[in-house]
Amino acid sequence: MTEQRFNCTQCGKCCFGWVPLTINEALANAGRFPLAMVWTPVRKTDGAHELTTQIGLSLPLGNRKHVAVLISPTAYLPASFACPALAPDKLCSIHENKPLRCRTMPFYPYHKEAAQAEFLTPRQGWLCETEAPAPVVYRDKRILERMNFDREIAALRGDAPLLCAYGETVMKQNPAMKAFVVKSAQTSSVGRTIMNFSSFLRLDKRYDLIRFAQQQHPILTEFAHRTKEIPDLAAYHKFYQDSAAELEWFVRRGDASLSGA
Ligand code: SF4
Ligand code: SF4
Repeated sequence: MTEQRFNCTQCGKCCFGWVPLTINEALANAGRFPLAMVWTPVRKTDGAHELTTQIGLSLPLGNRKHVAVLISPTAYLPASFACPALAPDKLCSIHENKPLRCRTMPFYPYHKEAAQAEFLTPRQGWLCETEAPAPVVYRDKRILERMNFDREIAALRGDAPLLCAYGETVMKQNPAMKAFVVKSAQTSSVGRTIMNFSSFLRLDKRYDLIRFAQQQHPILTEFAHRTKEIPDLAAYHKFYQDSAAELEWFVRRGDASLSGA
């Protein structure tokens, strides 16, 4: 019998950088997180490949080969930036409503249940407990309390049709983007493509872009300011600036309708 223990000491060290979200979580947190759509080509050798073939886009590479591309709504934060929901006491200020990705930690449902052992080893600097008296959470390659793991997989599958429809539309409308994603998939280091979150909302009339812009624009502006003049974060700064500029027209529309113009 093999078993592993884990206990979160609430040190807050893993609450930095990107947080993958469901579509609904992204919309619910538009006034809190700077949002992006992250496109990740996933190789056959990657543990996330099997699930990505089921929930992601399949792009032809030629020679009858395809690459699986995961499209993920994401709280798009530099690795050195704390999540905006992390309180000064290192606790999550939205604990009751925190994203599924945070609830499932340390497990990672993009990989099979039988391949979760590696995620129970804390990264350098993380203060997770992995020795007794921490409880046993993983035994003989089975997760003992799997409700959040299953909920996260179900949410990923639930979002997949909308995200794939979005991805296919972008590929059709923007051949240069398709060429870029395919090229990224063919290079030795996997290259991600980051798109504005509004590129998703624009393709579906059910979403209220004015309301989204009113919530998201101040957040993007704040993060553009925070990343200004940090050379290592120039790409983030440009993304926040460009994404905010994309939303300005909708913010003005919202302001005009409020003033009755
Ligand atoms: S939402 Fe809460 S748990 Fe998740 S990264 Fe942010 S602070 Fe941490
Ligand atoms: S790094 Fe480990 S102990 Fe710290 S908050 Fe994250 S899961 Fe909990």
